[in-house]
Amino acid sequence: VEQTYIMVKPDGVQRGLVGEIISRFETKGFKLTGLKLFQCPKELAEEHYKDLKAKPFYPSLIDYITSGPVVCMAWEGVGVVASARKLIGSTDPLQAEPGTIRGDLAVQTGRNVIHGSDSPENGKRETALWFKEGELC
Ligand code: ATP
Ligand code: MG
Repeated sequence: VEQTYIMVKPDGVQRGLVGEIISRFETKGFKLTGLKLFQCPKELAEEHYKDLKAKPFYPSLIDYITSGPVVCMAWEGVGVVASARKLIGSTDPLQAEPGTIRGDLAVQTGRNVIHGSDSPENGKRETALWFKEGELC
């Protein structure tokens, strides 16, 4: 079954959006297989975002992701990767459609409340990166 790694970023946790965000995936019908509140070490943030290392915003992105606890989630289901990206909406919350998580709950690209894997391959890679085997059901 397809797997995706979803993460409520520190701004989403701080703003009390965790319940709202989990609710959207639950009511859609996907299966939650992993869930934890976690303070991300810098090395893990760098590994997770290694493809963006050359981007000008990379240092501020690492600071942002490590600025407070995140909520790590693993979800599974047929088509879950693409569907989660649709539920999340565009990277820039001002471009994200109303009804999407970013469209409804955020305004800044640098504070866009949630991460979602961009391919089934990355869904597997990121789930394995953020969770130990015994943490997944
Ligand atoms: P994510 O990977 O977090 O689900 P995404 O796939 O929509 O987001 P990416 O291109 O992978 O977007 O960028 C990763 C994250 O880096 C974005 O979610 C955002 O937090 C940050 N980011 C991307 N572009 C910018 C930018 N131009 N300025 C500031 N931050 C940015
Ligand atoms: Mg991405």
